[in-house]
Amino acid sequence: MEDCLFCKISKGEIPSTKVYEDDDFFAFKDIAPVAPVHVLVIPKKHVQSIAALTEADAAVAGKMLFAIQKVASLLGLAEDGYRVIFNTGEKAGQTVRHLHAHILGGKEMAWPGV
Ligand code: 5GP
Ligand code: ZN
Repeated sequence: MEDCLFCKISKGEIPSTKVYEDDDFFAFKDIAPVAPVHVLVIPKKHVQSIAALTEADAAVAGKMLFAIQKVASLLGLAEDGYRVIFNTGEKAGQTVRHLHAHILGGKEMAWPGV
């Protein structure tokens, strides 16, 4: 999608620190990390948010969990654990309207944390 920051990042049109890429997904370090490890995983296909998913996105939505699993393992988080956050919509604090999972790790995290 034109004028979408994360579409441009996934195409390499805007630089980022890439940590993983395959045919369907791109993962890169968050520019403003809130944990020692903070990586964003995005589908290359533009989807606005979880709320905007349709049946046509079923494959990409399912594969995204496996992409998150793979990226977390590459980051060395599999053993200690990590948190995955999908901010969805304005009240949840979603600022970029391209579906993305935050992978947070490298520290003890409180729960509930809202
Ligand atoms: P949201 O608030 O929409 O859930 O998350 C968007 C995330 O994207 C934020 O954590 C923010 O720091 C990150 N972000 C925004 N712009 C850029 C950018 O240009 N590059 C990178 N690497 N991260 C960005
Ligand atoms: Zn996009």
